[in-house]
Amino acid sequence: MSRWWRHWWAGWGLALPLLATAGPVTAPDPASEDALLASLVRRAFDAPEAVLAELQQRWPTHAGPGQPRESAWLMARGRVLLQAGRAEAAEAVAEQLMARADGVDRSWLLRALALERAGKAAAPLATRALAGLDKQCPPGDERRAVRELGCDFRSAWEALRLLQREQFAQAAFAVSEASARRALALARGGEDKHLAAISLGMLAVSLQAQDKTDAARAELRAAEVEASGDLLAAARVRNYEGAIERRARDMAGARSAFEAGVLIAEQADAPHLAAVLRSNLVDSYMHLGLLKEALAVGQQALPVLQRFGDRYYERGLHHNLAIAYIKLRQFDQARQALARVGEFGNDPGDLVLRARELRELADTWAEAGQFKEALAALHAERDLNDRANERNRAAALEELGRKYDSAAKQRDLDLLARDGQLKDQQLANQQLAQQVGLAVGALLVLSLALIGVTLVRMRRAQARLTANQSLLRAQSERDPLTDLSNRRHFLAVMDQRTREQPGEGFEGALMMIDIDHFKNINDWHGHAAGDAVIVEVARRIRAAVRDSDLVVRWGGEEFLVFAPALPGDDLAQMAERVLRGIGGAPVQTPEGPLRVTASIGFASFPLGGAAGPGLHLHWEQAVNWADMVLYKAKAEGRNRGVGITAVEAPNADMLAALLQDFDAACINGQVQLRQLPGPT
Ligand code: GH3
Ligand code: MG
Ligand code: MG
Repeated sequence: MSRWWRHWWAGWGLALPLLATAGPVTAPDPASEDALLASLVRRAFDAPEAVLAELQQRWPTHAGPGQPRESAWLMARGRVLLQAGRAEAAEAVAEQLMARADGVDRSWLLRALALERAGKAAAPLATRALAGLDKQCPPGDERRAVRELGCDFRSAWEALRLLQREQFAQAAFAVSEASARRALALARGGEDKHLAAISLGMLAVSLQAQDKTDAARAELRAAEVEASGDLLAAARVRNYEGAIERRARDMAGARSAFEAGVLIAEQADAPHLAAVLRSNLVDSYMHLGLLKEALAVGQQALPVLQRFGDRYYERGLHHNLAIAYIKLRQFDQARQALARVGEFGNDPGDLVLRARELRELADTWAEAGQFKEALAALHAERDLNDRANERNRAAALEELGRKYDSAAKQRDLDLLARDGQLKDQQLANQQLAQQVGLAVGALLVLSLALIGVTLVRMRRAQARLTANQSLLRAQSERDPLTDLSNRRHFLAVMDQRTREQPGEGFEGALMMIDIDHFKNINDWHGHAAGDAVIVEVARRIRAAVRDSDLVVRWGGEEFLVFAPALPGDDLAQMAERVLRGIGGAPVQTPEGPLRVTASIGFASFPLGGAAGPGLHLHWEQAVNWADMVLYKAKAEGRNRGVGITAVEAPNADMLAALLQDFDAACINGQVQLRQLPGPT
């Protein structure tokens, strides 16, 4: 109990008999009053307007303007306003809180919650709130902190929940686990079983994401125990269970967890929560092939989410509905749903999640034979991934700790050290030259000799410096894992060619290679095995092409081969060698031998076939063509190559138009393809 409270409490004891008759009064014990406010906020998730009225009606005098309990009540009102979708009114409350010394941290938290509601990144504000709240809630003895230091554990808990959610969305699972554990400690310290149950759910998903499945299940069972008798908590625990089963690819398990959650939420008269569970159910139904059911349950949830202004789940639901529509070949509806997703924009907090959605979208479009859409989604995913990688570099390093990263770092350090040594040497040379200069006055002959020596040393140092610089440049254009060129190098080569032959267009053959079902290798055999496969596949590609061909690690498990001058037939033979090279003998990995296959898209430029020369493309467009046929190869079952043999287009504009509707162009013969089956 904090000091101000004890003061106030003393006065309240006298005032109570007078106030008891004067109007709505709550038990003036801060702990039980906080519990009451918490249960109101909880109920507000499903009935915000009613709770708002109730809050107003119960508002006690001791929480009036400037009164000691004002901030706690204001916070509750702000949170209920948010649930009611009244963001502006909530912001006004945040300002009121900001004006109170004991309301600043809550004000930040309220603003963070508002951002979350709007589907935006809330972590920075939540971190700020937590930094302040943590002063009263030092980790270690939470129980004491709650009882004696006036720790507002529920606000700190809420900040941690926000952080955990975003950390999880950014795949920083170990960090999200730590947040969940801290949230659990606070909930236990405050003896709040509802929050404890949810914390255990958060902990379970974080553990499962790190493949600690048994531990995750155990925490989930603990969550169920903690939630017994509390329908709202029980429904939320089901939601976590569903998420865990889904990640473990047990779609039937996920379905029954979400369905059970919906039932409990309805029993608890919680329509909003039921809609959240339903929107997750859409995904399970879809994976089980129950497309009609997915649409039905999604359409049931959508108006409810909209009524509650729940932008976060609404966005995800539009995405899931779009996937279902594509699978049902209702493309117009799919585009409409995607347009709704687009309206939400891409918030930095959700880049990783969004990239994952785009990948799912690309795959679904491709499965439906809509390659133009698939490619657009794929490119959007690449862009996002690049941005996400940029932003999450630190988190990703910590999380993945990929060995090649540390190797690359070590090499950078070595290079830096070498650079430093050279600089030292240059400095030493300069000093030496000065000394020589002084000696000239006294010993002309000797100093001439010394100058000679010094000059030689300086020239050598200079040569080493130049060599070192070009080494540095070469290293930065190399992929550290496979030692192949990286994308940056390829861009540099393309830039140089464009400069040397301006207006000429891209010439040469391209082959885009992507390992099949590579994610399974990572998932089933671990990243070390995945890395070993990437290294070996890179070696086999290198062995299957000529030394003069440029082999690029284009992305994770994608490779690009650029053969500057190669006739069409030779290109097909090269693709065949690569297919056989990769899919022939099993790859040796630390986990034992693994059979690996790849899909290839290839084409020779300028395209044109019978239409003859003149159809020049920019190199980026050429890469798009190769990408497109790679996607064809994937869609047609993988372990194969698909190449372009002839294209009929009267001019470059018409050529570009073919790519826009690739499938149609293949069907009506404007684009002719060649199929190369992979080894069996
Ligand atoms: P598909 O047949 O459609 O190509 O399926 P896939 O599983 O190969 O598809 P996807 O492109 O989604 O999977 C690529 C995975 O490769 C995802 C990523 O985590 C992993 N990855 C990317 N870079 C590396 C790396 O350097 N090492 C390891 N081990 N995995 C990587
Ligand atoms: Mg792949
Ligand atoms: Mg790939």
